[in-house]
Amino acid sequence: MQNNNKEELLIENENGYLKLSEQEIKKVNDFCEGYKNFLNNSKTERESVKYILNKIKSLGFEEFEISKKYNPGDKIYYINRDKALIIATIGSAPLSDGVSMLISHIDSPRIDLTPRPLYESSELVFFKTQYYGGIKKYQWTALPLSVHGVVEKKDGTSVEISIGENENDPVFCITDLLPHMAQDQMKRASNQIVKGDELNILIGSVPCNDDQDKNSKSKFKLNNMKLLNQKYGITEQDLISADLSFVPAHKAVDVGFDSSLIGSYGHDDRVCAYASLEAHLETDIPEKTVITVFTDKEETGSDGNTGLKSRFLEYFVSHLATPFGIDYKQVLSNSVCLSADVTSAFDPTWKDPYDNYNSAYLNYGVSLTKYNGHGGKYGTSEASPKFLANVIDILDKNQVIWQTGGLGKVDIGGGGTIASYVANLDVEVLDIGVPVLSMHSPFEIVSKIDVYMTYKAFYYFINNKK
Ligand code: MN
Ligand code: MN
Repeated sequence: MQNNNKEELLIENENGYLKLSEQEIKKVNDFCEGYKNFLNNSKTERESVKYILNKIKSLGFEEFEISKKYNPGDKIYYINRDKALIIATIGSAPLSDGVSMLISHIDSPRIDLTPRPLYESSELVFFKTQYYGGIKKYQWTALPLSVHGVVEKKDGTSVEISIGENENDPVFCITDLLPHMAQDQMKRASNQIVKGDELNILIGSVPCNDDQDKNSKSKFKLNNMKLLNQKYGITEQDLISADLSFVPAHKAVDVGFDSSLIGSYGHDDRVCAYASLEAHLETDIPEKTVITVFTDKEETGSDGNTGLKSRFLEYFVSHLATPFGIDYKQVLSNSVCLSADVTSAFDPTWKDPYDNYNSAYLNYGVSLTKYNGHGGKYGTSEASPKFLANVIDILDKNQVIWQTGGLGKVDIGGGGTIASYVANLDVEVLDIGVPVLSMHSPFEIVSKIDVYMTYKAFYYFINNKK
C-alpha cells in the first residue's frame, strides 16, 4: 500500500514551543532550574565530580570495589583522580548482554596557569597563563574571572581554592588596550588580536610596606604571595604542583524577554553531563546495566589518564565483569552508548559556515549527529544504521523532540568527539546532544527545551524495554 501521508513521507521538524503543552513547558523550566544550580556550583571538572558525588552519595551510591560481585539495583561509583567519574547502576540482565552507556565530558575551555605563573611588572602583579582548549582569545579579556582548583603541597596536604564566585569575593581579569590606542593591535591578523602570551591575569597592586621587605626588588609579588600564604599556607613553589583554573565569574542566567534560553559559561559539555546524571538517577533497576561516564580532557584531545583515550573505562568494565567469570570484551562488544556532547546551533547572524539542511536549531530538541570528523569523514565515528534507527524509534515512541545536527558545511568545520574512543572498544555509539550558540565563548547559549529533551532522550535510551 502506498503511503500518501505527507507528514510521514517527509521530515517536518517543528519548533518545540509549537508542540509542547503548557504543563510540559513547566516541566522543561523546572528541570532547567536544577541545571542552572549545577552550572553555578560546578565550574571545573573537579567541582563537577564533587557536585555529582555529593548528590549520588545521598542517594545510596557506594564506592566501587574491584573484586565484588554486584547485584541488580546496586549503585556504585568510581572516581578517577578527582577529575573524571564513572557511575553505574547494575541491571537485571547479565553483564554478558552488554551495558548501556552515557558518556559526556566535564572539562570546558578556560585559562590555566603556567608552572611558574607569578610575576610583577610596572608595580602590578600578574599570573602568566596557558589557555586550555579552543578559545577565541579576545573573548577572554576585560571579563571578571574567578579562580578554582587545588594546590597540592610537598607534605601531602592539599588546599582547595575557589575565589570570585561569592558576592563579596574579589575577581581577576585579563586587561585589554583602549580603542584609542589600539591602532596597531587592530591591524594584527584577527587570530592575533590578543596573543596567547598576552593572556596575563591581573591579581594585585599593593607592595610590601614593612621595614623588612619594603626595599625588596620583588615587593609587589612578595606581598601577594604573603597574602596567599596567610590564607592558604602556600608558597610560590607550591604553585608548581597546583591545578588552578580561571573561568568566567558570572552565573548562569535566563536569556531573552521570554526567558527561553540559558546563558552560561561551560554548557559544553556540562549540559549533557547534567542531563545524563539526572536520567541515570531516575533509573531504579534497569534491564541492562547503566554506566554513565563523566570524563575530563575532551577539550584538549582526550589524552592523559583522566581523558577517554585512557583505559579507565575499559578497566572499570573489566573489573565489573571478572567476578562473574565474564570476559569484559564480550560485555563491550554487546554494549550500546550515547556519546553526549553539544553541537553548534544554527546562528542567523553567522549563517555562512552552516549547512541549512543539516544544522541543529535552537528549540528543535535534542540533536543527533550521524557522523563527525572532517575532510571526507576523516577521523569519524559513524553510528551504525541499525543502531541509529533503533535510537530514533525509542525517541519517537516516547515523544522526545529530536532533530539532526552537524558541525558546518562539508569541508568547513567538523571535529571529533569522545564517541570514537568508545566506538573503538567495539561498542555501538551515536553522537547526541544539545545545540549551543557562541560555543567555547565565556557565555554560551542553550535552549531550555533542548536541555530537557536531551535528558528525556537519555532516560528512554537507558530504560528502553523491548
Ligand atoms: Mn564538547
Ligand atoms: Mn568543546
